[in-house]
Amino acid sequence: MVSVAIDGPAGAGKSTIARRAAKELGFTYVDTGALYRAIGLFCTDNGTDVSDSEEVVKILPGIDIRIVFTDGEQRVILNGKDVSKEIRTEKASMTASIVSAIPGVRSFLLELQRSFAKSANVIMDGRDIGTVVLPDADVKIFLTASPESRADRRTKQLAAKGTIADYNDVLSDIIKRDYNDSHRDTAPLKPAEDSIIVDTTELTLRQSIKRITDIIRDKL
Ligand code: C5P
Repeated sequence: MVSVAIDGPAGAGKSTIARRAAKELGFTYVDTGALYRAIGLFCTDNGTDVSDSEEVVKILPGIDIRIVFTDGEQRVILNGKDVSKEIRTEKASMTASIVSAIPGVRSFLLELQRSFAKSANVIMDGRDIGTVVLPDADVKIFLTASPESRADRRTKQLAAKGTIADYNDVLSDIIKRDYNDSHRDTAPLKPAEDSIIVDTTELTLRQSIKRITDIIRDKL
């Protein structure tokens, strides 16, 4: 099996680029952020205070997360319910970032993530795929872009989906999430030593996809 790890900060275009690259190469795309989002959503629905890590760890045994792939699209099933849409709100993003700093949450999701790479050729995106989840990945890419360009893209993406968001709010959320993700003690966001850094600030989506697929093809 071939595995490709794509890590990087929020809004760098990881999911869009990884999804398209996987399609082009015939790989399965796995979006690991969706798993943290599902745990955050469960806490919100359950009235669990996400800032209380002990409480969050206590409720984990009651959470069953499955990923199913229909027509190459990943769906997230939380305790039997498809929550693929619900986990995409800005509130869910922030909650995911908070629960993802809890070591018990990370270990809870570790084997599930590794199991995907055992049964298929995968492009997996996240924050710690190259460093922790798949340290032996065949290709490791760290995808990044300036916070301003990430906020700009995210604001436009939300608008395209009918959600009007203020650019400055999105920018401050991105900066906050970057800080949370890179300063946590467990599996902080950082490039693996053997990763290739790709900065997409000046690249179009098409150029970014080409850069990634070229890197993967070269390495295989
Ligand atoms: O990638 P996405 O923005 O959907 O991830 C949501 C949150 O989940 C991130 O802000 C990050 O805190 C967390 N995450 C993580 N490790 C991963 C994937 C996501 O900590 N492998």
